[in-house]
Amino acid sequence: MTIKTVGIIGAGQMGNGIAHVIALSGYDVLLNDVSEERVQQALATINGNMTRQVSRGKLNEQERDAALSRIRFIRGHDGLGDADLVIEAATEDEDVKRAIFAEVCPSLSESCILASNTSSISITRLASATDRPERFIGMHFMNPVPLMELVEMIRGIATEEATFARAREFVSSLGKSVAVSEDFPAFMVNRILLPMINEAIYTLYEGVGSVESIDTAMRLGANHPMGPLQLADFIGLDTCLSIMQVLYEGLADSKYRPCPLLVKYVEAGWLGRKATRGFYDYRGETPVPTR
Ligand code: NAD
Repeated sequence: MTIKTVGIIGAGQMGNGIAHVIALSGYDVLLNDVSEERVQQALATINGNMTRQVSRGKLNEQERDAALSRIRFIRGHDGLGDADLVIEAATEDEDVKRAIFAEVCPSLSESCILASNTSSISITRLASATDRPERFIGMHFMNPVPLMELVEMIRGIATEEATFARAREFVSSLGKSVAVSEDFPAFMVNRILLPMINEAIYTLYEGVGSVESIDTAMRLGANHPMGPLQLADFIGLDTCLSIMQVLYEGLADSKYRPCPLLVKYVEAGWLGRKATRGFYDYRGETPVPTR
């Protein structure tokens, strides 16, 4: 059974990047979010990002226009019946994802594979909230999706080998590389990355360095392309906090305790770039540290 049409639930930073890459690879995309306005914003972002690729000679205008014409907004979840694969890329909150699965499953075709782009939540537990644990899989794209080569793939306890094989073939058809992770909290990339980011926030919280000095230290001292606080803003501080909570609760180890300063930023709604303010303020010409 070949995959032709892919549904994407959640048109935020990740959903729009996933739609971008999938449409450029020739698949039809059905894009859904809580409102048409969010999807229109996502389409504008995809158009802007593809146009940048055209100006850099990575695409031509016909390829861009053809890809854009393959992405269609769908209201509610009823329209997902035509999808061969649905990728859930909504907010990193288990209750939100469970509610989506409860609503969406009755609309899906029998053979449709359901994937989650979750950064941290147990694939086995999410699968148990669906009618198809054997056709459920973790498909963890990296941000920004058009630029990052890796997709982490995670089997739940019930994931059938045929599901894994079809999903892996699909990921390869996007030109991405796969790393397979066992189903443990935050999988591999975020199990390693997020404690480093959380530690950078503790370093700020304890006054060891300023936002700027911590980021400069890690860029120039450890050769990281982005400082950890800049990266946290890029990921989204709500997502960072959710991942730390999953690690803390899932592994029951105090070394994963989310930094209180991270909690405070999230409570303030300073969620990073997507909210125009986080460890940096992005409302002006250049980002200005907020501490
Ligand atoms: P985001 O906040 O940019 O987008 C989330 C989107 O989900 C929003 O547009 C929101 O309106 C939508 N949404 C919420 N409830 C919904 C519902 N019931 N139906 C449809 N849409 C709904 O977040 P993001 O950064 O795009 O993260 C999305 C997922 O991808 C999360 O699971 C996150 O952990 C994962 N992820 C994030 C990153 C990253 O760097 N940000 C990287 C890899 C994976």
